[in-house]
Amino acid sequence: MNTASHDTPLNRHEAETIVIEAVDAGRLERIPAGRLAANLTAPDVLETVLEGARESKRRGKGDLVSYSRNIFLPLTNLCRDRCAYCTFAKQPDSPDAKTYTLDEVREAVDGGMRAGCAEALMCLGDKPERAYKSHREWLAERGMTKTSELLVQACEQTFAQGMFPHTNAGILSSEEMADLRRSNASMGLMLESTSPRLRAKGGAHYVAPDKDPAVRIRMHEEAGELKIPFTSGLLLGIGEDEQDRVETLFTIADLAERYGHIQEVIVQPFHPKDDTPMRGIEPLTDAEVAGWVAMARLILGPQMNVQAPPNLAPDALEWLLRSGLNDWGGVSPVTIDFINPEAPWPKLVELRRRTEAAGQRLVERLPIYPDYLLDRPEFLEPAVREAALERVAETGFVKSQSVEAA
Ligand code: SF4
Repeated sequence: MNTASHDTPLNRHEAETIVIEAVDAGRLERIPAGRLAANLTAPDVLETVLEGARESKRRGKGDLVSYSRNIFLPLTNLCRDRCAYCTFAKQPDSPDAKTYTLDEVREAVDGGMRAGCAEALMCLGDKPERAYKSHREWLAERGMTKTSELLVQACEQTFAQGMFPHTNAGILSSEEMADLRRSNASMGLMLESTSPRLRAKGGAHYVAPDKDPAVRIRMHEEAGELKIPFTSGLLLGIGEDEQDRVETLFTIADLAERYGHIQEVIVQPFHPKDDTPMRGIEPLTDAEVAGWVAMARLILGPQMNVQAPPNLAPDALEWLLRSGLNDWGGVSPVTIDFINPEAPWPKLVELRRRTEAAGQRLVERLPIYPDYLLDRPEFLEPAVREAALERVAETGFVKSQSVEAA
């Protein structure tokens, strides 16, 4: 029986033994994960974890690293929550507050299609109608009572135009997700963190009821019951500790095992923004971020799609390419990252060059991964699946298109 607690120091040999066993078993267990996590800043342990994660990725995903050519469509930047790190959400009286009309959505989607984009990332604040009278009035003028009604219409219109919506709208009810499933290729909600401390006074999520871990876990479960290909994720550096990160990754692993619907897991570092209460928080180093991408790979196993956004670590793509990720996520040749507007997307040609320099191959995917699209038809609305199949080669990845101009 392993009686070591997580804060027992690890030497390189012990770390290697844990990692080799995990790679061979296809999954890192909880107690050894806690020990690696507590020692991850030790260079020997970090190197061992990175090597193991890279090997696990190689076994599950070969030399492929995918991305999705997308547009980021912030349907509304009003939000009822106030996360202490967020600059996306605006107050209704801000000159930057914006809710898209359906005509504006159509125009944005047309622009994305001209640039060869397949995914429309519908990203928006959480239930602003509950907080703001002016937003309720805006909706009422258009015959709606909830933002989710606008979202459903925007997604259906987008799908009819020829792009595949992927919705990330905060907490949605089961009924709302069922409506969105008709036109969405996949949906997502970062679990972010299961740490209860973040909801306490002074914590990042103190004024964010929709960031309650139990509420977010329930939505993951409901998406699983609806068989929605789902994106989850871990947000790094918002006040959680190493053991919280391990716990969050195991919660995601458990959801993936129970429902089989977690198609990708994002490991995303928090970037402090000047005009937020968390502006003074030190972000994780690039090496630490890579270490946590690697921990995600080892905990979630070789088949999971593990993603890290390239615009949040532009000087560290080589670190990330050694960490066992197999996906860069959405990269847009058209729109900015509205969540991290200070962080431009890399050019696709540059992303390909650096991916290939690390001995890996860049491929384009739709917002539905090949294994779900080709082998698990029950996870997609038939019309969405049919349209998606027309866009991909036999591999399930997008038929090749040039990255030179993108
Ligand atoms: S829920 Fe999302 S949009 Fe709303 S404040 Fe938090 S991070 Fe910002």
